[in-house]
Amino acid sequence: VREFDLIRRLQERFPAPPAPPGSDCVLGIGDDAAVFEVPPGQQLVACTDTLAEGVHFPVGTDAAAIGHKALAVNLSDLAAMGATPAWFLLALTLPSAADAWIEAFADGMATLAAAAPIRLAGGDVASGPLNVCVTALGLVASGAALTRSGARVGDLVVVSGRPGAAAHALQTVLGGGEPTPDDRAALDYPRPRLALGLALRGVASACIDVSDGLLADLGHILEASGVGAEVDAAGLPVPTSLAEWPEARRLPLQLAGGDDYELCFTLPARLEPELPGLAARGGVELSVIGRIVDRPGLTTRCADGSLYEPPRGGYEHFGAGPGARP
Ligand code: ADP
Ligand code: MG
Repeated sequence: VREFDLIRRLQERFPAPPAPPGSDCVLGIGDDAAVFEVPPGQQLVACTDTLAEGVHFPVGTDAAAIGHKALAVNLSDLAAMGATPAWFLLALTLPSAADAWIEAFADGMATLAAAAPIRLAGGDVASGPLNVCVTALGLVASGAALTRSGARVGDLVVVSGRPGAAAHALQTVLGGGEPTPDDRAALDYPRPRLALGLALRGVASACIDVSDGLLADLGHILEASGVGAEVDAAGLPVPTSLAEWPEARRLPLQLAGGDDYELCFTLPARLEPELPGLAARGGVELSVIGRIVDRPGLTTRCADGSLYEPPRGGYEHFGAGPGARP
């Protein structure tokens, strides 16, 4: 397909869902840029995330999964800020414009866009090595965005879901094996915790989404908040496929694996009774895994009480460490 056919095709695949109350996409696809109306008393929350083939997903990943994940990782960032998704832009670089691939890609992305809901408002197409860059825009009441900097001594450290399944799937794929369906879904179809992010507004003291590994991302909260934490790995729920694994092999995947797209947040201890209600509103399991302390740094204990020694930090682009992916 030609460039303009491709844009038209994408436009057709993404019917505009209703915008958040009072907001509007005044001008969408078709002009030089999109124009948005932000309701009074609200702030625009913007994030962008790129997926490059061979870096963020293995070569040969399903087109539908790529479409889903490119949007999901951005929605996960909006969730971590407590923002309501509103609009997104899609910059797509493709080696070829193969019909079947584009259809599947658009399907995967449009299904998630309709569920969020979020509206495609513009973008760009180019030819080149496969690369998908999404820019997502959300809305939050002025001053109400969740940030990384609000954790206080005594707060509980809470994580959603069961980190580790996506990392296990990736390890299995790279080793030439076939992941379990649950692990495969965790890697290819992460579910952004949008409902949880909204429920955490005015409740959580700090929040981050877990993309680079639980401890590495918690570390960003600690740094931004100027505090430390003690994590007790015994509190971390285990994905089914890792249930029989010895802790020493399982914890590196759960604590440093990455690609989880769960939320890690801190909660004033007096609000602990709210956790079941938050889990219900967020539609996801919540587990207390530690506490914020005065002393800077992060100590993690295994179930047997011994200190956990991280084999490596989270994934870092341009980092030369053993964490670098092939
Ligand atoms: P320009 O040349 O002015 O940058 P383009 O020809 O790139 O404009 O795009 C024309 C219109 O199509 C713009 O409104 C742009 O936002 C939209 N568009 C281009 N690529 C995409 C895409 N991948 N998804 C959605 N909209 C797109
Ligand atoms: Mg132009």
